Amino acid sequence: VFITLEGGEGVGKSTQLRLLRDALQSHGYEVLATREPGGSAGAEALRELLLFGQAPLSLRSEILTHFAARFDHVDQVIRPALAQGRIVLCDRFTDSTMAYQGYGRAEGDATILKLIAVLQAQLGLAPDMTFLLQAPRQVTRQRLAVRGAPTDRYEQADEAFHARIAAGFQAIAQQHPERVHCVTTDHCSAEAVTSRIMKDILPQLPNV
Ligand code: C5P
Repeated sequence: VFITLEGGEGVGKSTQLRLLRDALQSHGYEVLATREPGGSAGAEALRELLLFGQAPLSLRSEILTHFAARFDHVDQVIRPALAQGRIVLCDRFTDSTMAYQGYGRAEGDATILKLIAVLQAQLGLAPDMTFLLQAPRQVTRQRLAVRGAPTDRYEQADEAFHARIAAGFQAIAQQHPERVHCVTTDHCSAEAVTSRIMKDILPQLPNV
């Protein structure tokens, strides 16, 4: 079973990844928790280039580099883990490329959305369930400020960019209501968010 966590910066994806991994393990499941961009040795090298590289990449080059990393991650890590019967939890996946590059950077340009959709189809693997974590920008900005200085080029992007990303994720959720579950993370504790997500996940899992 392949489960992804999506959303903008500071919505709590990495905290939920950890808490969900622990919760699933306590139910007896074998879990692989991973993240993108990255998650395999080759993809982590490409993450460095994408997030901290000095040379700006053109939009299409950026999209292909995200997918180059993703193909490596899928081929070397995710697919083998799924084949072993493990539950794979991934912090970001194709929806992030749609949201950041498609709706954020390309402002919803139809040709670019199509390019991303084609690459996505070529992966031959889609999440069984996706949890879109959401919180108002003023809340996530506060969380990022507590976390420290902006760490990569995207976290420093302007507010209009972040607004397009949030709208993009919302559009993706509306296009795939059977897969994407929206979860707000600003009204309750991280543990309460985990319980809410586990209620959706557990009925979908095989018995251990
Ligand atoms: O999830 P995390 O914060 O580690 O992601 C690293 C950075 O990569 C984030 O700033 C995110 O905005 C950016 N990113 C992106 N396009 C993607 C995936 C992630 O711009 N497709």
